[in-house]
Amino acid sequence: MATFVTRAQWGALAPLEVSGTITPQQGGVVIHHVDAVKVAEAHHTDCAAQVRSIQNFHMDANGWSDIAYSHLACVHGSLFEGRGEYVRTAAQGTTQGNDDWYAVCALTGGTGGDYDVITPELIDAIRYGITRLRSSGGAAPAITGHRDHHSTTCPGNVYAHVVTGAVNPGGGPLPYPGVSFRQPPSLAHASVATWQLRMNSAHGYSLTVDGRYGPGSDAACRGFQSRKALTVDGVVGPATWNAAFAPS
Ligand SMILES: [Zn+2]
Ligand SMILES: [Zn+2]
Repeated sequence: MATFVTRAQWGALAPLEVSGTITPQQGGVVIHHVDAVKVAEAHHTDCAAQVRSIQNFHMDANGWSDIAYSHLACVHGSLFEGRGEYVRTAAQGTTQGNDDWYAVCALTGGTGGDYDVITPELIDAIRYGITRLRSSGGAAPAITGHRDHHSTTCPGNVYAHVVTGAVNPGGGPLPYPGVSFRQPPSLAHASVATWQLRMNSAHGYSLTVDGRYGPGSDAACRGFQSRKALTVDGVVGPATWNAAFAPS
């Protein structure tokens, strides 16, 4: 079980102002990492100072009211309290993202194959952050990566753990994300990639796992719906999602 580190315990500055309201029942939780360079601390005794430096950067350089994230997770298995539940974030790079989604940041980084190691303790801390945001903050079930919302490589090598559902608090497949997928595709969405993986691994399809609900996904969806005697509409709603993830 992850260790929770309160703002007082890590020495947070008070927010400059109270951020606006958030409607996380319409979104969920977005996963981030810190940077495109490796940042994970070797020793946990250095992690609180790292979180303080991120807060200073967000407040002094970016001019934000507080550290951008709802919570931050370190590779040693601690979850540092960020803005917390029911506070709008500044992390997602889009207004809609900040209005509807919480942000959990892994204290890791890297790019181009040179990444911090993702530890089981980090995954556990991310799961704990998502659990808090759901149980105390009203977050919808969806879990996405920053790159699903905005042009960025964030969250680097953590993204694979979003796609597989490893960061899902219950483990295993992600629950129905609360949004339906249909043509024409909107933004790429980690849950679409999760569904594509499942269609390939459990139902014999050969979809490109790109998180985009394109014509190939639409055709596979319609064929699957026909086989399962579901309404054939090409829309991955709750019934089609749950049929895809039912034990076979
Ligand atoms: Zn990010
Ligand atoms: Zn640590």
